[in-house]
Amino acid sequence: MTTIKLALQKKGRLSEGSMDLIRRCGIKVQNGIGKLKAEASNFPIEFLFLRDDDIPGYVQDGIADIGIVGANVMVEKDSHVEVVHHLGFSKCRLSIAVPKDQEYNGIQDLDGKSIATSYPVLLKKYLDEQGVTADIHEISGSVEIAPSIGLADAVCDLVSTGSTLFQNGLKEVEQIYKSEAVMVATPDLAEDKQAVLNQLLFRIKALQEAES
Ligand code: ATP
Ligand code: ZN
Repeated sequence: MTTIKLALQKKGRLSEGSMDLIRRCGIKVQNGIGKLKAEASNFPIEFLFLRDDDIPGYVQDGIADIGIVGANVMVEKDSHVEVVHHLGFSKCRLSIAVPKDQEYNGIQDLDGKSIATSYPVLLKKYLDEQGVTADIHEISGSVEIAPSIGLADAVCDLVSTGSTLFQNGLKEVEQIYKSEAVMVATPDLAEDKQAVLNQLLFRIKALQEAES
């Protein structure tokens, strides 16, 4: 039987939910977690463990057939992959936040200001829609400290509970994108692989229905 290759985040906020989903589908994973590759003993699937940023590209290019990634990363990378299912975990929002003591009356207040983010594409799209011009500073991590070190006036970052923003003296003022983990697939997946994907999706949907 044809084996399907699934790209998963190696370590991070998607990893646990992804592996948990696979296990709850009754799929037994062989080899140690933490390796680059693993396979299943009772389902025709192989796993590739990657950085989440690389997953859309690997799936687009067909190196992996399917992947589990945050919708935010998929949109940010402008990748040509198909969203085949919404998985309902790793829910978060991409939000703009400003120092908590700063007066804020609306998005126009950010015109001419600088905003630090790891998601320049999503941010630019939102600012363009709102007719606001701001200076976007792309940084790859620890975005929330940017205002306190004088690097930017505001931030645009992923938020789930809001506690990280709060701890850094920031307040959330605009929600610009709502995200969750999604299953993506290579466009025009071969028929035999599509059949395996359908079996996997059948199990996932059954789990979701049982839980709802
Ligand atoms: P990698 O080392 O794989 O590049 P990363 O540091 O870029 O990892 P994580 O912080 O693990 O990424 O986040 C992965 C995804 O988890 C995010 O893109 C997002 O979809 C989701 N996520 C859910 N809640 C949060 C949150 N509170 N903060 C950040 N990401 C979250
Ligand atoms: Zn990443």
